[in-house]
Amino acid sequence: TAPGRATDQDTGGARAPIERLVIVGGGTAGWMAAAAFSRYLNNGRTKVTLIESAEIGTIGVGEATIPPILSFNKMLGINENEFIAATQGTFKAGIEFVDWGAIGERYVHPFGYHGHEIHGVAFHQLYLRARAQRQMPPISDWSMSAAAIRHGRFARPGTGASFPLDQLYYAYQFDAALYARYLRGYAERGGVERIEGKVVDVALDGESGFVTDLTMADGRIIAGDLFLDCSGFRGLLIEQALKTGYDDWSRWLPCNRAVAVATENVVPPEPLTRATARARGWQWRIPLQHRMGNGLVYSSAYLSDDEARDTLMANLEGPALADPRTLSFTTGRRRLSWNRNVVTLGLSSGFVEPLESTSIHLVQAGIAKLIALFPDKRCTAVERDEYNRAMKDLAEDIRDFVILHFHATRRDDSPFWDYCRTMEPPDSLARKIALFREKGRVFRDNFELFATPSWVAVMFGQGIWPEGYDPIADALDESRVDQAMAQMRRDYEDAALRLPSQAEFIARCCAAP
Ligand code: FAD
Repeated sequence: TAPGRATDQDTGGARAPIERLVIVGGGTAGWMAAAAFSRYLNNGRTKVTLIESAEIGTIGVGEATIPPILSFNKMLGINENEFIAATQGTFKAGIEFVDWGAIGERYVHPFGYHGHEIHGVAFHQLYLRARAQRQMPPISDWSMSAAAIRHGRFARPGTGASFPLDQLYYAYQFDAALYARYLRGYAERGGVERIEGKVVDVALDGESGFVTDLTMADGRIIAGDLFLDCSGFRGLLIEQALKTGYDDWSRWLPCNRAVAVATENVVPPEPLTRATARARGWQWRIPLQHRMGNGLVYSSAYLSDDEARDTLMANLEGPALADPRTLSFTTGRRRLSWNRNVVTLGLSSGFVEPLESTSIHLVQAGIAKLIALFPDKRCTAVERDEYNRAMKDLAEDIRDFVILHFHATRRDDSPFWDYCRTMEPPDSLARKIALFREKGRVFRDNFELFATPSWVAVMFGQGIWPEGYDPIADALDESRVDQAMAQMRRDYEDAALRLPSQAEFIARCCAAP
């Protein structure tokens, strides 16, 4: 048998269903998977076990998300108010980028749309046509989510909301440790068995190369048919045991360190994550109900750990609640997300960069794809290949979108920004930028996560202005379009001003006990 090809004999019978699903790791990825599979494998046939080690601990810094997380919670049947209260959560309507295009500039990448198309013409094309004639306010003036951010307001639009509130897209910000705890409760109620302890050895089948069982530090043996590697950066199964390999993206995403610290809240939590570019890196600010999450992301080639800590500590709004913690990573992705009978989720599958809060989404997407392609004991190549193709496309598209933020800058105040500005982007991104520079066109590829409004927000926000606009825009009467655009802009603003502040909304329906 070729390595990785299990036959019916190997697996003890044709198409035998997975009976033992073993998840290694109890961070965000492990507990998200355990919760999802406790619901979807609730068939009396498959036992789900999760192994975690308190001694090793979790990374615990992934606290900002993007809107698709709402469908993950919906899939689990989670009540949003209960969830927000249990995780000290807040709502997030987008990301504000400060000093990215140039020092002194700021823009919002809002969730959802800019305006709406008129007679089939994309809104941003009509905006570009108007801009060719006169000074225009930022395109985020035509976004419901950006209007909510501008005024620090938020309320759940609710199902059946009408324009413009139906365009108030949002996600969550939460305490990562509380999130894992919440999902653990959910998974355990759904029958997931939790084993505390350290895995010290991984046994492989001599013929198929499949993982057969794990040895724990206390000598217990945990056997499985399918393994989910959620062990974090170490990639215990996917790399240490299966030597899958890693595509390193450092030449495009050179940051490889972060220093993080939580602070007391000194202002009411706003419905946004803020990403501020610093001279040699960038700083995140994530408001939660009980504290503010802060961190500086940087490259060790341009900034020492001590300088990074000093930069972070000098740029905090409130008193620190603990000592800052430094983390190391290498941007990139595991060459295969699914190798033999091991599927990798979370940091063991790679790490793009926390800039657009996409890691938790990649976990969610990996779980959804695995449910869609759930194998039998053979883990056939055809299912694996499909999974790997989808996850690779998704990760590479996210990578390109994140690289755009670093590359499309006019900053020249440090060797770090000089490198980012002048580097050669991947061909796939270079093509997208070139197309956009012509007439502002964006086409969404296969499984691409970020849609046109996201690309438009960052391109415009960082100063990539197309030379022209799509000629199709000229088919529409200019004064009528102007009137419609002016009305839309007023609608967003008026609707935002009628919302409560995010603090009022949380106090009313989902404050932590
Ligand atoms: P971990 O949290 O590291 O968990 C690994 C688990 O494996 C632990 O339970 C550990 O005990 C267990 N384990 C490991 N080895 C063994 C062993 N031998 N035996 C038993 N158990 C073992 N994502 C976002 O979506 N939004 C963000 O804003 C965001 N910000 C981030 C900022 C930074 C600086 C970094 C580094 C990451 C960020 N992420 C973010 C990513 C996010 O933190 C992770 O995607 C998410 O937490 C998932 O982590 P994990 O569960 O894969 O790994």
